[in-house]
Amino acid sequence: MNLSCLLCYQASPAPVCQWCESDLFFFNDDIHGNNLLKFGPVGRHVTHRHYHSLSILSLHTWPMSSLIHQFKFNHSLAAGKMLNKWFVDKKQHCTLSVPDLLLPVPISAWRLAKRHYNQAGVMAEFIGKDLGIPCLHQWAIRTGASSQHQLSKSQRKKNAEHAFALTPYALNDVIAQKSDKFVVAIVDDVVTTGVTVDRLSRLLVQRFPQVTIQVWAMTFTPPPKSTLYQST
Ligand SMILES: [Zn+2]
Repeated sequence: MNLSCLLCYQASPAPVCQWCESDLFFFNDDIHGNNLLKFGPVGRHVTHRHYHSLSILSLHTWPMSSLIHQFKFNHSLAAGKMLNKWFVDKKQHCTLSVPDLLLPVPISAWRLAKRHYNQAGVMAEFIGKDLGIPCLHQWAIRTGASSQHQLSKSQRKKNAEHAFALTPYALNDVIAQKSDKFVVAIVDDVVTTGVTVDRLSRLLVQRFPQVTIQVWAMTFTPPPKSTLYQST
């Protein structure tokens, strides 16, 4: 097969060649722990009042951000498959409980109409298939219209307060059958402030107090001056 690497454009049998891959930074459970909420350079900077653990593949810095961009905006399935493969490898070695259900962060109806694509949904579907975990898409809806990524931290927070609602019955049947110890993972592509996943988690625990919530994301955007920039 005649393929080229998505990052350096050299011939490569895989979407990202082994040289580029070996240069990439990945969070490692052995070094950073299996829950990044307990790892200061991440945990201190994300809102996490309502979920219990955070697993992230990498940092939202170049060149990983380029792969996310290709997946999200150019619908590059090759980029998506590579990201998902790395994430699945990571999860196969993770010591946290395996979730019963994956819940992708929803995008608004108008954005879906424009993009025809919910990248978090595609990601959750791929990862769930490889790990044997079902994925529920219609569990929540985005009610606010504005996109989060052009807003300041305080604006994001205000926006997120009203941005989501749980779908009335979608989760009831699944979770009610397992009254004790139900674990879900909310799946998103990029975590920056954590406000979005925290807001969704709050809605979940308000309705299902017994649920343990993990958050799974591809990348984390470190704040300016973060020591994490030295890792890349
Ligand atoms: Zn390469």
